[in-house]
Amino acid sequence: MAERRLQKAIDTLKESGVRITPQRHAVLDYLMNSPIHPTADDIYKALEGKFPNMSVATVYNNLRVLRENGLVRELTYGDASSRFECSFTEHYHIICEDCGKIVDFHYPSLDEVESLAEKITGFDVSHHRMEVYGTCSDCKQK
Ligand SMILES: [Zn+2]
Ligand SMILES: [Zn+2]
Repeated sequence: MAERRLQKAIDTLKESGVRITPQRHAVLDYLMNSPIHPTADDIYKALEGKFPNMSVATVYNNLRVLRENGLVRELTYGDASSRFECSFTEHYHIICEDCGKIVDFHYPSLDEVESLAEKITGFDVSHHRMEVYGTCSDCKQK
């Protein structure tokens, strides 16, 4: 299942004429199998053993290419480092205020908020984001 998803993503890149370097392949593979919404630094640390010549800049560059091709979503949180994920099924995030962990949860998309906001403000709404904050079960035990 995960293999098929990876292959499909690679086909998408090939169709857009993007070269599949071993690093690019590894970054994509890592992201697809990581539930932690890693930062570029996390990805770098996870892969540097395999690619001793790779720099953090290479990771950023690969993430940018993947994002531009719609394969990776970047999550920004104010001044904190961006986090990245490959999942495109609609979902929301709950974030631990102690350790920064981000966990996915599913809830019917809050479409009515968008149409209400449109009606009240006259904006054309493009999307919304909602985050829930708290203390994760690991941190609660400390
Ligand atoms: Zn935590
Ligand atoms: Zn997520």
